Amino acid sequence: MGMAVLAGALTGCGSGGSPSASAAPPTATSAASRTGQPSPEDSSPSHGSKGSQGSLAGKVIVVDPGHNGGNAAHPEIINKKVDVYNGRKACNTTGTSTDDNYSEHAFTWDVATRLVKILRAKGAKVVLTRPNDTGVGPCVDERARIGNRAHADAVLAIHGDGAPAKGHGFHIIEPAPIKGHNESIIAPSRRLGGDMRDAFHQGTGIPYSTYLGKNGIDVRSDLGGLNVSTRPAVFIECGNMRNPGDAAKMKSPQGRQKMAEALANGFAKYLG
Ligand SMILES: [Zn+2]
Repeated sequence: MGMAVLAGALTGCGSGGSPSASAAPPTATSAASRTGQPSPEDSSPSHGSKGSQGSLAGKVIVVDPGHNGGNAAHPEIINKKVDVYNGRKACNTTGTSTDDNYSEHAFTWDVATRLVKILRAKGAKVVLTRPNDTGVGPCVDERARIGNRAHADAVLAIHGDGAPAKGHGFHIIEPAPIKGHNESIIAPSRRLGGDMRDAFHQGTGIPYSTYLGKNGIDVRSDLGGLNVSTRPAVFIECGNMRNPGDAAKMKSPQGRQKMAEALANGFAKYLG
């Protein structure tokens, strides 16, 4: 049972070629237009008190929205293998989606866009690993190297999971040590992960994952984004897109704004 659940979870976020992937481009387009709506600010209580949450002036933050809108149409690019030090992994994947085809890449792009706006308002220098939700890639190792080259003080990769439908909740993924490569980031990434876990839980009310990790934290050695990083880095799986309750929160613009504000608070806690 445990193995089956784990395999399902890895498939959801980490594999390409699911039937729903072909429906991703139109979903991305509609999500992009939603991103342009002014509603986030209207519903954002943090805007009136952005100075009180602590300044992030001078901090360099890299935000990595998982997957990309053009990935499904370009398997010849994203299926190429890249070196992640303890093995080779696909350059990138299509990601998962909700049962009604709200795609993970559109979700991560929307949350990232909202998060970047908040972080920049607090004075942080923010680097996104991709400029839009219509391109292909970048590969997982390159996403990590973007953070390395930027000398990021903290790196967050945003994802949504595709686990069996009865599992729900969010979890943070922290790096496991890869000898000779990322040992220096293990301790700070643990702190970053704990701060993100607490901030996300408090800010969104979303419970810890019922199907993976312990107290909302998982540790993995198979993610290029963590193996190749030389800067403190964690992933978040914001929810299970195959679970109806989680999917409703992830499809809601208000839900995504809450998530973005919570993640900004996690950065402020870690970097403050
Ligand atoms: Zn993902």
